Amino acid sequence: MSTTELIAPLHADMTAWRRDIHAHPELGFEEARTADLVARQLEAWGLEVHRGVGRTGVVGTLRAGSGSRSVGLRADMDALPIDEANTFAHRSQHAGVMHACGHDGHTAMLLGAARYLSQTRRFSGVVHFIFQPAEEGLGGAKAMVDDGLFERFPCEAIFGMHNRPSLEVGRFAVRSGPMMAGGAFFDIRITGKGAHGARPETGVDAALAAAQVAVSLQSIVSRNVPPVETAVLSVTRIHSGDAYNVIPQTAALGGTVRAFSREVMKLVEASMRRVASGTAAAFGATAEVDFRELFIPTVNDPAEAEFAARICTELVGAANVMRQPPLIMASEDFSFMLERVPGCYINIGNGSANGEGGCEVHNPAYDFNDAALPLGAAFFARLVEARLTA
Ligand SMILES: [Zn+2]
Ligand SMILES: [Zn+2]
Repeated sequence: MSTTELIAPLHADMTAWRRDIHAHPELGFEEARTADLVARQLEAWGLEVHRGVGRTGVVGTLRAGSGSRSVGLRADMDALPIDEANTFAHRSQHAGVMHACGHDGHTAMLLGAARYLSQTRRFSGVVHFIFQPAEEGLGGAKAMVDDGLFERFPCEAIFGMHNRPSLEVGRFAVRSGPMMAGGAFFDIRITGKGAHGARPETGVDAALAAAQVAVSLQSIVSRNVPPVETAVLSVTRIHSGDAYNVIPQTAALGGTVRAFSREVMKLVEASMRRVASGTAAAFGATAEVDFRELFIPTVNDPAEAEFAARICTELVGAANVMRQPPLIMASEDFSFMLERVPGCYINIGNGSANGEGGCEVHNPAYDFNDAALPLGAAFFARLVEARLTA
Protein backbone atom coordinates (compact mmCIF):
# COMPACT_ATOMS: atom_id res chain seq x y z
CA MET A 1 0.00 0.00 0.00
CA SER A 2 1.16 3.51 -0.71
CA THR A 3 2.03 6.01 2.00
CA THR A 4 -1.00 8.13 1.05
CA GLU A 5 -3.33 5.11 1.34
CA LEU A 6 -1.90 4.19 4.73
CA ILE A 7 -2.19 7.75 6.06
CA ALA A 8 -5.82 8.24 4.93
CA PRO A 9 -7.27 6.30 7.91
CA LEU A 10 -5.41 8.67 10.29
CA HIS A 11 -7.41 11.67 9.00
CA ALA A 12 -10.04 11.35 11.75
CA ASP A 13 -7.40 11.17 14.50
CA MET A 14 -5.47 14.13 13.09
CA THR A 15 -8.69 16.16 12.87
CA ALA A 16 -9.52 15.33 16.49
CA TRP A 17 -6.01 16.34 17.71
CA ARG A 18 -6.13 19.52 15.62
CA ARG A 19 -9.52 20.59 16.97
CA ASP A 20 -8.56 19.72 20.55
CA ILE A 21 -5.43 21.91 20.25
CA HIS A 22 -7.49 24.63 18.55
CA ALA A 23 -9.95 24.67 21.45
CA HIS A 24 -7.09 24.96 23.97
CA PRO A 25 -4.69 27.53 22.48
CA GLU A 26 -1.60 28.60 24.42
CA LEU A 27 0.72 31.57 23.84
CA GLY A 28 4.46 31.25 23.20
CA PHE A 29 6.45 29.48 25.97
CA GLU A 30 3.14 28.68 27.72
CA GLU A 31 2.39 25.58 25.61
CA ALA A 32 2.23 23.23 28.63
CA ARG A 33 -0.99 21.42 27.68
CA THR A 34 -0.10 21.21 23.98
CA ALA A 35 3.42 19.96 24.71
CA ASP A 36 1.98 17.36 27.09
CA LEU A 37 -0.54 16.17 24.49
CA VAL A 38 2.26 15.85 21.92
CA ALA A 39 4.67 14.09 24.31
CA ARG A 40 2.04 11.60 25.53
CA GLN A 41 1.10 10.60 21.99
CA LEU A 42 4.73 10.17 20.93
CA GLU A 43 5.45 8.09 24.05
CA ALA A 44 2.41 5.92 23.39
CA TRP A 45 3.78 5.17 19.91
CA GLY A 46 7.15 4.10 21.28
CA LEU A 47 9.23 7.17 20.46
CA GLU A 48 12.02 8.39 22.73
CA VAL A 49 10.60 11.69 24.03
CA HIS A 50 12.46 14.73 25.38
CA ARG A 51 10.38 17.46 27.04
CA GLY A 52 11.45 20.96 27.96
CA VAL A 53 13.82 21.52 25.02
CA GLY A 54 13.88 25.32 24.63
CA ARG A 55 11.52 25.67 27.64
CA THR A 56 8.23 24.19 26.35
CA GLY A 57 9.54 22.43 23.22
CA VAL A 58 9.31 18.66 22.69
CA VAL A 59 11.52 16.37 20.59
CA GLY A 60 10.51 12.81 19.73
CA THR A 61 13.10 10.46 18.23
CA LEU A 62 12.20 7.44 16.10
CA ARG A 63 14.78 4.92 14.92
CA ALA A 64 14.36 2.15 12.37
CA GLY A 65 16.79 -0.26 10.76
CA SER A 66 20.55 0.10 11.12
CA GLY A 67 21.01 3.35 9.19
CA SER A 68 22.77 6.25 10.88
CA ARG A 69 21.45 9.00 8.62
CA SER A 70 19.08 11.47 10.24
CA VAL A 71 16.43 13.98 9.36
CA GLY A 72 14.58 16.60 11.44
CA LEU A 73 10.93 17.53 10.93
CA ARG A 74 9.60 20.61 12.64
CA ALA A 75 6.17 22.00 13.61
CA ASP A 76 5.27 25.01 15.76
CA MET A 77 2.75 24.84 18.63
CA ASP A 78 1.94 28.39 19.79
CA ALA A 79 -1.20 30.49 19.38
CA LEU A 80 -1.75 34.26 19.09
CA PRO A 81 -3.21 36.91 21.43
CA ILE A 82 -6.39 37.29 19.33
CA ASP A 83 -10.02 36.91 20.46
CA GLU A 84 -11.55 34.22 18.23
CA ALA A 85 -14.62 35.30 16.24
CA ASN A 86 -15.65 31.76 15.18
CA THR A 87 -18.64 30.05 16.80
CA PHE A 88 -18.06 26.39 15.84
CA ALA A 89 -17.74 23.70 18.51
CA HIS A 90 -13.93 23.64 18.55
CA ARG A 91 -13.56 27.44 18.93
CA SER A 92 -11.04 28.69 21.49
CA GLN A 93 -12.02 28.14 25.10
CA HIS A 94 -9.51 30.77 26.24
CA ALA A 95 -10.63 34.39 25.83
CA GLY A 96 -8.09 36.51 23.97
CA VAL A 97 -6.04 33.57 22.67
CA MET A 98 -6.57 31.63 19.44
CA HIS A 99 -4.83 29.47 16.86
CA ALA A 100 -5.05 32.08 14.11
CA CYS A 101 -1.90 30.97 12.28
CA GLY A 102 -2.69 27.27 11.91
CA HIS A 103 0.05 25.99 14.21
CA ASP A 104 -2.63 23.61 15.57
CA GLY A 105 -2.72 22.09 12.06
CA HIS A 106 1.08 22.02 11.76
CA THR A 107 1.32 20.10 15.06
CA ALA A 108 -1.44 17.65 14.03
CA MET A 109 0.23 16.97 10.63
CA LEU A 110 3.58 16.21 12.26
CA LEU A 111 1.87 13.98 14.83
CA GLY A 112 0.17 12.17 11.95
CA ALA A 113 3.54 11.59 10.28
CA ALA A 114 5.01 10.31 13.57
CA ARG A 115 2.06 7.93 14.03
CA TYR A 116 2.40 6.57 10.48
CA LEU A 117 6.20 6.22 10.56
CA SER A 118 6.13 4.51 13.97
CA GLN A 119 3.61 1.98 12.60
CA THR A 120 5.26 1.29 9.26
CA ARG A 121 8.99 1.97 9.78
CA ARG A 122 9.73 1.70 6.07
CA PHE A 123 13.03 3.57 6.47
CA SER A 124 16.49 3.06 7.94
CA GLY A 125 17.91 5.80 10.15
CA VAL A 126 16.83 8.38 12.70
CA VAL A 127 13.95 10.86 12.57
CA HIS A 128 13.71 13.73 15.07
CA PHE A 129 10.21 15.20 15.38
CA ILE A 130 10.74 18.76 16.60
CA PHE A 131 7.74 20.51 18.18
CA GLN A 132 8.86 24.06 18.84
CA PRO A 133 7.31 26.69 21.08
CA ALA A 134 6.87 30.42 20.58
CA GLU A 135 7.20 30.96 16.83
CA GLU A 136 5.17 34.20 16.87
CA GLY A 137 7.98 36.64 17.59
CA LEU A 138 9.16 35.25 20.92
CA GLY A 139 12.18 33.31 19.69
CA GLY A 140 11.13 29.68 20.21
CA ALA A 141 13.33 28.26 17.45
CA LYS A 142 16.36 30.10 18.77
CA ALA A 143 15.56 28.91 22.31
CA MET A 144 15.66 25.30 21.10
CA VAL A 145 18.89 25.86 19.12
CA ASP A 146 20.49 27.57 22.16
CA ASP A 147 19.35 24.63 24.29
CA GLY A 148 21.56 22.35 22.18
CA LEU A 149 18.89 21.06 19.79
CA PHE A 150 21.29 20.03 17.02
CA GLU A 151 24.04 18.83 19.38
CA ARG A 152 21.58 16.56 21.21
CA PHE A 153 19.59 15.59 18.11
CA PRO A 154 21.95 15.85 15.10
CA CYS A 155 20.06 16.25 11.81
CA GLU A 156 21.55 16.01 8.31
CA ALA A 157 18.69 18.16 7.05
CA ILE A 158 15.54 19.74 8.48
CA PHE A 159 12.14 20.45 6.99
CA GLY A 160 9.07 22.42 8.01
CA MET A 161 5.92 23.76 6.45
CA HIS A 162 3.39 26.53 6.85
CA ASN A 163 -0.19 26.49 5.65
CA ARG A 164 -1.18 29.09 3.10
CA PRO A 165 -4.90 29.97 2.82
CA SER A 166 -4.44 31.63 -0.59
CA LEU A 167 -3.20 28.32 -2.03
CA GLU A 168 -5.75 25.53 -2.61
CA VAL A 169 -5.64 22.32 -0.58
CA GLY A 170 -3.80 19.81 -2.75
CA ARG A 171 -1.09 22.24 -3.80
CA PHE A 172 2.38 23.05 -2.50
CA ALA A 173 4.74 25.99 -3.01
CA VAL A 174 8.51 25.46 -2.85
CA ARG A 175 11.19 28.11 -3.21
CA SER A 176 14.93 27.61 -3.49
CA GLY A 177 17.22 30.13 -1.77
CA PRO A 178 15.76 33.10 0.15
CA MET A 179 12.05 32.70 0.82
CA MET A 180 10.99 34.96 3.69
CA ALA A 181 12.52 38.20 4.92
CA GLY A 182 14.66 38.85 7.96
CA GLY A 183 13.28 41.59 10.18
CA ALA A 184 14.73 44.22 12.52
CA PHE A 185 13.27 46.96 14.70
CA PHE A 186 15.15 50.19 15.36
CA ASP A 187 14.95 53.19 17.67
CA ILE A 188 16.84 56.43 17.14
CA ARG A 189 17.09 58.96 19.92
CA ILE A 190 17.98 62.50 18.86
CA THR A 191 19.28 64.93 21.47
CA GLY A 192 19.44 68.67 20.87
CA LYS A 193 19.00 71.61 23.21
CA GLY A 194 15.59 72.78 24.37
CA ALA A 195 14.65 76.43 23.95
CA HIS A 196 11.78 78.90 23.85
CA GLY A 197 9.73 78.47 20.69
CA ALA A 198 10.29 82.11 19.81
CA ARG A 199 14.07 82.01 20.31
CA PRO A 200 15.36 79.11 18.14
CA GLU A 201 18.85 80.62 17.93
CA THR A 202 19.44 79.68 21.59
CA GLY A 203 18.69 75.98 21.13
CA VAL A 204 19.21 72.93 18.89
CA ASP A 205 15.86 71.76 17.48
CA ALA A 206 15.63 67.99 17.98
CA ALA A 207 12.30 67.85 16.07
CA LEU A 208 13.83 69.39 12.96
CA ALA A 209 16.83 67.07 13.14
CA ALA A 210 14.49 64.06 13.53
CA ALA A 211 12.44 65.13 10.52
CA GLN A 212 15.60 65.42 8.42
CA VAL A 213 16.91 62.04 9.69
CA ALA A 214 13.58 60.42 8.67
CA VAL A 215 13.91 61.84 5.15
CA SER A 216 17.63 60.99 4.84
CA LEU A 217 17.06 57.38 5.92
CA GLN A 218 15.05 56.89 2.72
CA SER A 219 18.26 57.28 0.72
CA ILE A 220 19.64 54.02 2.18
CA VAL A 221 17.50 51.61 0.16
CA SER A 222 17.72 53.74 -3.00
CA ARG A 223 21.44 54.69 -2.80
CA ASN A 224 23.26 52.12 -0.61
CA VAL A 225 21.49 48.79 -1.16
CA PRO A 226 22.50 47.28 -4.53
CA PRO A 227 19.52 47.57 -6.92
CA VAL A 228 19.49 43.80 -7.54
CA GLU A 229 18.91 43.23 -3.80
CA THR A 230 15.71 43.95 -1.88
CA ALA A 231 15.11 45.81 1.37
CA VAL A 232 12.41 47.80 3.11
CA LEU A 233 13.10 50.58 5.59
CA SER A 234 10.00 52.10 7.19
CA VAL A 235 10.05 54.86 9.79
CA THR A 236 6.79 54.09 11.58
CA ARG A 237 6.97 56.42 14.56
CA ILE A 238 8.31 59.92 15.27
CA HIS A 239 7.68 61.42 18.68
CA SER A 240 8.86 64.82 19.89
CA GLY A 241 7.66 67.79 21.89
CA ASP A 242 4.75 68.49 24.23
CA ALA A 243 4.10 72.24 23.94
CA TYR A 244 3.41 74.87 21.27
CA ASN A 245 6.04 77.26 22.54
CA VAL A 246 8.92 74.91 23.37
CA ILE A 247 11.59 73.73 20.95
CA PRO A 248 12.03 70.10 22.00
CA GLN A 249 15.32 68.93 23.41
CA THR A 250 14.79 65.31 22.35
CA ALA A 251 13.05 63.35 19.63
CA ALA A 252 12.56 59.64 19.05
CA LEU A 253 12.18 57.78 15.76
CA GLY A 254 11.44 54.11 15.31
CA GLY A 255 10.59 51.63 12.62
CA THR A 256 11.37 48.37 10.91
CA VAL A 257 13.77 47.00 8.30
CA ARG A 258 13.22 43.87 6.18
CA ALA A 259 15.81 42.18 3.96
CA PHE A 260 16.46 38.79 2.38
CA SER A 261 20.11 38.47 3.30
CA ARG A 262 22.04 39.16 6.48
CA GLU A 263 24.65 41.10 4.45
CA VAL A 264 21.98 43.55 3.27
CA MET A 265 20.62 43.83 6.83
CA LYS A 266 24.13 44.64 8.11
CA LEU A 267 24.59 47.18 5.30
CA VAL A 268 21.31 48.91 6.21
CA GLU A 269 22.27 48.97 9.89
CA ALA A 270 25.70 50.49 9.19
CA SER A 271 24.19 53.02 6.79
CA MET A 272 21.52 53.96 9.32
CA ARG A 273 24.14 54.65 12.00
CA ARG A 274 26.13 56.83 9.58
CA VAL A 275 23.13 58.73 8.17
CA ALA A 276 21.48 59.28 11.58
CA SER A 277 24.60 60.54 13.37
CA GLY A 278 25.83 62.55 10.37
CA THR A 279 22.47 64.19 9.74
CA ALA A 280 21.92 64.98 13.41
CA ALA A 281 25.46 66.42 13.60
CA ALA A 282 24.70 68.75 10.70
CA PHE A 283 22.08 70.36 12.96
CA GLY A 284 24.30 70.34 16.06
CA ALA A 285 22.38 67.43 17.57
CA THR A 286 23.41 63.86 18.37
CA ALA A 287 21.77 60.56 17.41
CA GLU A 288 21.86 57.24 19.25
CA VAL A 289 20.79 54.19 17.23
CA ASP A 290 19.45 50.97 18.76
CA PHE A 291 19.15 48.34 15.99
CA ARG A 292 17.67 44.94 16.90
CA GLU A 293 17.67 42.05 14.41
CA LEU A 294 14.68 39.91 15.52
CA PHE A 295 14.39 37.44 12.66
CA ILE A 296 17.02 36.36 10.18
CA PRO A 297 15.97 35.63 6.57
CA THR A 298 14.50 32.19 5.87
CA VAL A 299 16.84 30.67 3.28
CA ASN A 300 16.23 27.25 1.74
CA ASP A 301 19.17 25.11 0.68
CA PRO A 302 18.92 24.67 -3.13
CA ALA A 303 19.55 20.91 -3.04
CA GLU A 304 17.08 20.35 -0.18
CA ALA A 305 14.49 22.55 -1.90
CA GLU A 306 14.88 20.38 -5.00
CA PHE A 307 14.41 17.28 -2.86
CA ALA A 308 11.30 18.73 -1.13
CA ALA A 309 9.83 19.71 -4.50
CA ARG A 310 10.41 16.17 -5.77
CA ILE A 311 8.42 14.75 -2.82
CA CYS A 312 5.61 17.28 -3.38
CA THR A 313 5.52 16.41 -7.09
CA GLU A 314 5.32 12.71 -6.28
CA LEU A 315 2.29 13.42 -4.04
CA VAL A 316 0.28 15.92 -6.09
CA GLY A 317 1.85 16.13 -9.57
CA ALA A 318 4.06 18.86 -11.02
CA ALA A 319 1.07 21.02 -12.03
CA ASN A 320 0.18 21.42 -8.35
CA VAL A 321 3.65 22.35 -7.13
CA MET A 322 4.34 26.05 -7.45
CA ARG A 323 8.09 26.51 -8.00
CA GLN A 324 9.79 29.79 -7.06
CA PRO A 325 6.66 31.58 -5.77
CA PRO A 326 7.19 35.30 -4.99
CA LEU A 327 9.32 36.26 -2.00
CA ILE A 328 7.38 36.77 1.24
CA MET A 329 8.09 39.94 3.23
CA ALA A 330 6.85 38.39 6.50
CA SER A 331 9.34 36.54 8.73
CA GLU A 332 9.54 33.03 10.16
CA ASP A 333 11.73 31.89 13.01
CA PHE A 334 12.43 28.43 11.48
CA SER A 335 15.17 30.58 9.88
CA PHE A 336 17.27 30.13 13.05
CA MET A 337 17.21 26.35 12.52
CA LEU A 338 17.91 26.66 8.78
CA GLU A 339 20.90 28.82 9.62
CA ARG A 340 22.43 25.84 11.45
CA VAL A 341 21.30 22.90 9.34
CA PRO A 342 20.49 22.84 5.60
CA GLY A 343 16.88 22.23 4.82
CA CYS A 344 13.73 23.59 3.30
CA TYR A 345 10.57 25.35 4.45
CA ILE A 346 7.57 24.88 2.17
CA ASN A 347 4.00 26.16 1.97
CA ILE A 348 1.05 23.77 1.90
CA GLY A 349 -2.28 24.86 0.42
CA ASN A 350 -5.01 25.45 2.98
CA GLY A 351 -7.68 27.23 0.87
CA SER A 352 -10.79 25.71 -0.63
CA ALA A 353 -11.02 24.88 -4.33
CA ASN A 354 -13.86 27.36 -4.99
CA GLY A 355 -11.84 30.19 -3.49
CA GLU A 356 -14.15 30.55 -0.51
CA GLY A 357 -13.17 30.20 3.10
CA GLY A 358 -9.54 31.08 2.49
CA CYS A 359 -9.50 33.41 5.49
CA GLU A 360 -5.96 34.73 5.94
CA VAL A 361 -3.84 33.85 8.96
CA HIS A 362 -3.79 36.21 11.98
CA ASN A 363 -7.48 37.00 11.35
CA PRO A 364 -10.04 36.36 14.16
CA ALA A 365 -12.18 34.30 11.73
CA TYR A 366 -9.33 32.02 10.60
CA ASP A 367 -9.49 28.25 11.04
CA PHE A 368 -7.03 25.66 9.72
CA ASN A 369 -8.60 23.62 6.91
CA ASP A 370 -8.58 19.99 8.09
CA ALA A 371 -8.75 18.75 4.48
CA ALA A 372 -4.99 19.49 4.25
CA LEU A 373 -3.99 17.24 7.19
CA PRO A 374 -3.34 13.94 5.33
CA LEU A 375 -1.31 15.66 2.62
CA GLY A 376 0.89 17.46 5.14
CA ALA A 377 1.50 14.23 7.05
CA ALA A 378 2.22 12.41 3.77
CA PHE A 379 4.81 15.04 2.80
CA PHE A 380 6.74 14.49 6.03
CA ALA A 381 6.37 10.71 5.81
CA ARG A 382 7.40 10.33 2.14
CA LEU A 383 10.32 12.67 2.72
CA VAL A 384 11.66 10.32 5.40
CA GLU A 385 11.08 7.20 3.32
CA ALA A 386 12.71 8.68 0.23
CA ARG A 387 15.70 10.03 2.12
CA LEU A 388 16.41 7.29 4.63
CA THR A 389 15.96 4.39 2.22
CA ALA A 390 15.90 1.05 3.97
ZN1 LIG B 1 1.73 33.65 12.46
ZN1 LIG C 1 2.54 30.78 11.60
